[in-house]
Amino acid sequence: MLVASSSASAGALLRHVRTGRARSRAELVALTGASRNTVSARVDQLIAANLLAEGGRGWSTGGRPPTLLQFNSRAGCVLAVDLGVTSVDVAVTDLSAQVLATVGHPIDIADGPRPVLAEVDRLAQLVLADAGLEPADVCAVGIGVPGPVEHSSGRPSHPPIMPGWHDFPIPSAFGRYECPVYVDNDVNVMALGEMGAAGSVQDVLVVKVGTGIGCGVIVDGRVYRGAQGSAGDIGHIHVTTPDGRLVTCRCGQENCLEALAGGGALLRDAVAAGLPVSTTREVVERAAQGDGAAIELVREAGRTIGTVLAALVNFFNPHRIVVTGGVAQAGVPLLAGIRESVYRRSMPLAARALEITVSEAPELSGRVGAALMAIEGFLDEESVEQALAR
Ligand SMILES: [Zn+2]
Repeated sequence: MLVASSSASAGALLRHVRTGRARSRAELVALTGASRNTVSARVDQLIAANLLAEGGRGWSTGGRPPTLLQFNSRAGCVLAVDLGVTSVDVAVTDLSAQVLATVGHPIDIADGPRPVLAEVDRLAQLVLADAGLEPADVCAVGIGVPGPVEHSSGRPSHPPIMPGWHDFPIPSAFGRYECPVYVDNDVNVMALGEMGAAGSVQDVLVVKVGTGIGCGVIVDGRVYRGAQGSAGDIGHIHVTTPDGRLVTCRCGQENCLEALAGGGALLRDAVAAGLPVSTTREVVERAAQGDGAAIELVREAGRTIGTVLAALVNFFNPHRIVVTGGVAQAGVPLLAGIRESVYRRSMPLAARALEITVSEAPELSGRVGAALMAIEGFLDEESVEQALAR
């Protein structure tokens, strides 16, 4: 039997159709360079497997108009879990990451894996029932967690804000679904969510500014995890302050980026400046509503984050930087501070076409990203080959 070349395997053809890069057999032939017969045979297999459907006619460029191909995004569903420190959101989505039902609930991650995952399981059954689906319909599960994870095994690795979770096999909690379970840290998952279902072939940094600060590194549209999975952990990069002040970070080192410009730092500085606030959220809301003192604090945090991002821009030369997370909801002042430092300190060639924006839906990107991680795993080239062989 001939082995499909990766560029025209059934999985690759399916990806081209579901990301909108090709809509007909002819376009698949043009895109992959494979023969018409090869493409047709694999498309027929995908149709038989209910992953592709034929529908409608395209415009003719001479001759018979082509039959259009559509991805059948209702061929299955995935569970998407956005696990935070104080809350969890669970969604069931179709295979294009469209949310079919979702529910959120407060939790305390420090209660440990067993009670928290039991609650996740309860919520998952709730959203499935809500969407009229059965556990057997679930093709894959995706989970984002607020700490470092070994992606291959789905086990957290010494997570600083998830006591009791070290080395816990998170996928084992989803045994009832008899499907693959993918776990990654929340920042990588949010980064996928920001890319959207159509994906992207760009190089992008997705910077999450919440209690901590982290960065999802997207290379050519894919999450780059590094050798051990800790790529993008920018929160503990050392920063020197203009006034020479020293701040101890929760990791024990001095003047980490997070200790100077994370959500906790913002609250600490706001209280020190006499603002009547008790949570980071209140500081962010005051800044968004136009409070001058809060705006200046957020802007200064942006400048500090920008000094680190300027170094990353020189090193990585991304097309785009997207800022997300709770503090990003402050919007303009955070962005202004970041832009100020990045454009002042980056090399002109790297900064020339660089776009820096704030996420359009920071509260949803965790769930959409978890769904996309599960879908990408379920529909990767190897899994599709295996599914068609059955
Ligand atoms: Zn630190």
